Amino acid sequence: MSLKRILRLKGTLLLRLTLWYAGIFTLSSLLIFSILYYKIQAVAVEEIRADILDDVSMYSGLMARGGLKEVLTELVDEAVNEDPEEEFSRLLDLDGRVIFSTEMSAWGEPDSYAIPESLRQGSEKRVMQVLSVPGREGGAHMVSALIGSGAVLQLGETMEDSGEYLLLIRDWFLAALGVIMLLSGVIGWVLAKRALGDMEEVTRTASEISQGTYDKRVRVRRRFKEIERLGGTFNRMLDRIDDLMRSLREVNDNIAHDLRSPLARIRGIAEMSLLNDKTAEEYRNFAVSTIEECDNLINMINTMLEINEIDSGVNDSHPETVDLTPLIRDAYELFLPLAEQKKVGITLDLPEKLPVTTERRKLQRVVSNLLDNAIKYTDEGGSVRIAAASDGKDVRIILEDTGIGISEADLPHIFERFYRCDRSRSQGGGGLGLSLARALTRSMQGSIEAESTPGRGSRFTVILPQTISVIPE
Ligand code: ADP
Repeated sequence: MSLKRILRLKGTLLLRLTLWYAGIFTLSSLLIFSILYYKIQAVAVEEIRADILDDVSMYSGLMARGGLKEVLTELVDEAVNEDPEEEFSRLLDLDGRVIFSTEMSAWGEPDSYAIPESLRQGSEKRVMQVLSVPGREGGAHMVSALIGSGAVLQLGETMEDSGEYLLLIRDWFLAALGVIMLLSGVIGWVLAKRALGDMEEVTRTASEISQGTYDKRVRVRRRFKEIERLGGTFNRMLDRIDDLMRSLREVNDNIAHDLRSPLARIRGIAEMSLLNDKTAEEYRNFAVSTIEECDNLINMINTMLEINEIDSGVNDSHPETVDLTPLIRDAYELFLPLAEQKKVGITLDLPEKLPVTTERRKLQRVVSNLLDNAIKYTDEGGSVRIAAASDGKDVRIILEDTGIGISEADLPHIFERFYRCDRSRSQGGGGLGLSLARALTRSMQGSIEAESTPGRGSRFTVILPQTISVIPE
């Protein structure tokens, strides 16, 4: 790997995860090896001490059976086979006078292996000591023991033999640790790379999308649940953005379309007023038509701005207790002439009183919009029913008509801005009424639902909380 690539890894999650993995693995192995090493060392020390104590017991037995002579004979026999640098044996009287001793030149100052005071005073019969012998690693273990009356036996042995094994074990442990460090680094790297490789895919897709490839999606692999979730969420977000962009394009198209027709009409009127001479009455009619077209345009723009304002939450909220029954009755009376003119009957199904904490003006506009549509899209002889009821938690206002209905394909879109179902285009609506009704209902913390059977009629249900929480400004 080049230096440049290594430098680029600095600060990456990949490097960190690898180092953490390798570090934790190596440290745990080091801990386990150290515990094992010290356990083995302790066993080796125990063995040496047990050996020396066995010998002491053997010499005590000899002393009891055959006295000093037997002990001396055995000591001399044993000394022949001993390496004076590894082991020593001494026999002394309580005053420290040497009766027998192997070669002691390798065992340092005589003071270090003098008879311990506790033995001399008779408070202990055997004393174990650790001797530090010059030039020897691991030191030596020595026992001073009273065997028979007044005879002190001293036996010493270095850790040389077990020390060699321990050194070998230590070297093996160190070598194994090196291998573990290397392996854990490689395994950590591979694991981190696999996990982050999938994340890298999310990043790559995001960067492709930022360059304009909006139809790209992250390939969701089921290797790691977290990354699968990340990829899924990212894809859902992209779908949503895609939907938003599509509907934005549609809204733009619709706005362009809706602006073009009235502007073309205004232009036509202006052209006509330029052709030939016209009477004052005709000029007045042209002016009236132009004003009407302009009013429609201004209304459309104002409604759009209002929907945006309500959707963005800028709109002021002033909830009050409103009795729904008279509010709906007022709307009914307002639209009755229109209904009568279209020969559409309206029936009311309202409780005596229906108090709800909400915003009166917004609710009035929602009801008017829905009632206006119900009459507008119901043919002569049809009927409209307005009902309202509460289940204690929510209030439901239902507007049902026996009109032309809405097709299954149109139904999901009717609340979108400028959406008009084809069949109803001739009704001359601006396609903003339901968008406004939905924005208003949402701003009152409610919702609006539509069901319909083409040719049989539609039902719009406004659901509002009976009391709404007022968000402090
Ligand atoms: P418009 O001003 O065109 O009525 P709306 O946003 O109020 O716009 O409604 C969107 C479309 O939904 C309408 O163009 C119409 O096709 C359809 N629609 C709304 N209300 C009804 C209804 N009660 N019956 C049948 N179609 C309806």
